[in-house]
Amino acid sequence: VNKAEYDSRRSSAAAVAAGHKLDALLVTGLPNVRYLTGFTGSNGAVLLLAGGGFILFTDPRYTIQAAQETGGRVVTTRKPLMDAAAAEAARRRIRKLGFEAQRIGFEAHERLRSKLPRAVELEPARGLVETLRARKSPAELELIRRSVEVNSRAYEAALRAIRPGKTSEADLAAEIEHRMRRLGAEKPAFETIVAGGEHAALPHAHPGKRKLGANELLLIDMGATLEGYASDMTRVVSVGRAPAEARRVYGAVLEAQLAAIDAVRAGATAGDVDRAARKVLRAKGLDRAFVHSTGHGLGLEIHETPRVGKGDKTRLEEGMAITIEPGAYLEGKLGVRIEDTVAVTRTGCEVLTPTPKDYREL
Ligand code: ZN
Ligand code: ZN
Repeated sequence: VNKAEYDSRRSSAAAVAAGHKLDALLVTGLPNVRYLTGFTGSNGAVLLLAGGGFILFTDPRYTIQAAQETGGRVVTTRKPLMDAAAAEAARRRIRKLGFEAQRIGFEAHERLRSKLPRAVELEPARGLVETLRARKSPAELELIRRSVEVNSRAYEAALRAIRPGKTSEADLAAEIEHRMRRLGAEKPAFETIVAGGEHAALPHAHPGKRKLGANELLLIDMGATLEGYASDMTRVVSVGRAPAEARRVYGAVLEAQLAAIDAVRAGATAGDVDRAARKVLRAKGLDRAFVHSTGHGLGLEIHETPRVGKGDKTRLEEGMAITIEPGAYLEGKLGVRIEDTVAVTRTGCEVLTPTPKDYREL
């Protein structure tokens, strides 16, 4: 991501802030700070002026890094960042200051209010930068594509390490994360899920000491972070010959996933895509076993706007990156989820995930 792109992101965000009649927006969500400035530190806030300028606040640990990453004005302070942000807003005679209602802690908000002159109006803003982030630039899509590719390669390499009866879920999760890093990822995008047999009926199972058994399904949900950008994929494989029911559920979920992918296009609502998956599972008697939404946006965070859920009215736009991941979970028996990352195009979508989805026995 080059300097011109950061400039254009900030001018888009400043225009939206101005449209909300704000003189400035105080950005406290770290992914939003990174999106607008390139700053990757763990403590930072940005005062984005409606005119387009910005000031980054951080602490002395990041003085050098912030200057290198942002090339803009950096204020470092040993005190709470809100003190410096309030002083700057006062100095610039800001009258209406937006703050990220979903991205600020209670104490930080109190601190900000107490340090600002009485006359300054604090206005809650919600999802302002997040909405801009939903639509990815070509450079961002390229980073997501690379993240997806590294993730899929790590998956293939890790599968080869499975020894039924010997390898535990935790062993395989460690192998997956090790492979990701060896292939260039900075870290996993979230805690890797490895769940065998009945354990996979918990959609967000934690990998444990359970050994991967023969003749059961194995669910793996994994994602890498590469240059800040997340990938996300779920695959289910059969270790040996799983029971016939496993095969039937797998077939149904795959059909639902393909139907949802088929429903993706610019102009469709996220709810339309969710409905396409649900319709297939209902016909198979599995709608009540599908306990989560069909997908989510991803980018600098693993879960971003839009949510691809029941009745969601958000219109999909060209350039959005979303996951498609219907599933079915049968308590005490098994769980199946199939997840790809796709990029929305004008007429449909491009499936970025290269890993095959046919029923596979190891
Ligand atoms: Zn996932
Ligand atoms: Zn996901």
